[in-house]
Parts: sequence; C-alpha cells; structure tokens
Amino acid sequence: MPFKLARSSFLQVFTPPQMAVYAMHGIFSDGDAKAFRNRCLIQEDKFERLLSSLPFKFVSLDDAIAGRGEALTMDDATNAAYRAAKLAREHGHAVTVFVNPYFVRFQRPYFFLELNWLLDRTSCSSIQFEGTTFPLNFLSERKAFRIQVKDRFCMLASIEEIESTIGDIGARLGVERDGLPGHLRTMTELELRMLVEAGVGIQNHGFSHTHPKALRWVQLMREITLAQEWIRDVCGQESRHFAVPFGDALPQWRLPKERGLNWFTLHDQVRHGALGPGIWNRLRVESLLEGLNEPRRCDT
Ligand SMILES: [Zn+2]
Repeated sequence: MPFKLARSSFLQVFTPPQMAVYAMHGIFSDGDAKAFRNRCLIQEDKFERLLSSLPFKFVSLDDAIAGRGEALTMDDATNAAYRAAKLAREHGHAVTVFVNPYFVRFQRPYFFLELNWLLDRTSCSSIQFEGTTFPLNFLSERKAFRIQVKDRFCMLASIEEIESTIGDIGARLGVERDGLPGHLRTMTELELRMLVEAGVGIQNHGFSHTHPKALRWVQLMREITLAQEWIRDVCGQESRHFAVPFGDALPQWRLPKERGLNWFTLHDQVRHGALGPGIWNRLRVESLLEGLNEPRRCDT
C-alpha cells in the first residue's frame, strides 16, 4: 500500500515529541551578503557570535530526536559547510553534515552553486531558457530565472542532463564555469575525514542530490543505500539519517522499518519537529539569529 501523504489529517492524529533540529548550509567571510554566491549562507562572524552566545550546546542528531536537546545540521559537502562545522566543534557544539558522495568522489561542484556563480558574473540583460525569455537586469529578475532553473533541476534524474543544462546556461550567459569561489567548492575526502576526526557526524543527503520527484521510490532507496555505503567506507560511520535534497519532499511510501531510517525535511510551510514515525522537519538556523537581532533569511 502506498504511504498516503494526506498531510493535514496525518498531522492531526500524530502527537509529536518536542524537539528542534536546525539546518544551515555554511558560512562565508567575504563579499556582498546579497550576492547569489552567498545565498543561504551566514556571515562567519555572526555565526561565531551565535555559537558563543547560546545558553545551551547543540547535541547530536540521535540525542535530539530522543528529546535530549537541540541539534545543528549542515546540508551539502561544501567548504562553507566544512568551515561552519569546524567552528561549531571549536565552540563545543555537536554538529552533523549531510553530504552527497557523488560531488565529493568526483570532485564536482554542486550544480546550483555553479548557477549562483554564473548569475553573479553575467552581464547579459536576458536569457532564453526552454522557450521563454527571462530578463536579467534586476536582482528580482535573476531570482525569478534562478527559481525556474532550479525547478527544472528538480525534474532531472540524470546528473549528465543537469551538467549539460548548466553548461548550456553558462554559454548563453557568456561566462566561464571555472573559478568557483573557495567557499562554494566541494570538500575533498581528506577534509571529510578531518571533520570525522573533529567529532562531526556525517550523514546522508542522497548520492547525487537528485530530487525525489524525479525518481521512482526504488531509485530513491538506491540513492540512499549508495550514499550509506560510501559514508561507511570513507568516513567509517553508519548513517541512518537522511536529509532529503531540496528539503521539501516527504516520503511517498512508508519508510522501510528494517532500515531504521530517519527522514529530515527543511520545509518552511510545515511546523518543525516530528511529522510522523521517522519523519522530522528542521528549522532554519536563521531563526536563532533573530534572537541576536541579526535576521538573515533564505528566501527559497
Ligand atoms: Zn542540499
């Protein structure tokens, strides 16, 4: 039987335990906070002030879902996440990084970060994409184009198709794909092992960051299994926690019990905490920055 995602009635019958798991994508230290390349990232000094001023320490993901505290997580295996995770450990906090083995293993940049980098540098006033002309004169227009491309990425199951789409966009925008800023580059296996040594938990963000709606359920389970195996081999850690790529999808079918898998979303329209057996919604760490009177929100 398919696990029917009747979200409203499902939430009414499930009484969740209190917990909070925070999510972020890393930190940056230079440049314009409004630039696409710094999108969804937090300024290093603000993050450090948050870490040092919190009246509690973050706990591990296992402890958080058992109701023993609040956890901090980072998505994507970038240097921005690496630096943020190291900083958290230096301040005595537990932290978990959700990684995608494909990008680490093949040392490829994350495609949506390449897109951000292209958008920061182009001087084109418009672009043709899938039969539509998108103006690019203002930040709002570039954001609208970015959302369109991101929606397209979510429908693509093949990393080759995504790579070719990004190559095509780069050519149309008249900018090279190289020269990605250091904080957006993908971690190496060595850096990942250094995080493990520093006490960082490494968990599963899917093998190739493919959106679940582009995959059949069996393909998604394969993505999760491949990542679990890679994390076991490279990091020596058993990963039972899966942060769904793009953050917005709930499982279409009941999670296989024998795998003991926990599924984490990052969805602004759904309450945080436990949504169902093994399903948890995270909060953006930006909500804690509001306590420091320094809000910085990620808009999509
Ligand atoms: Zn991600």
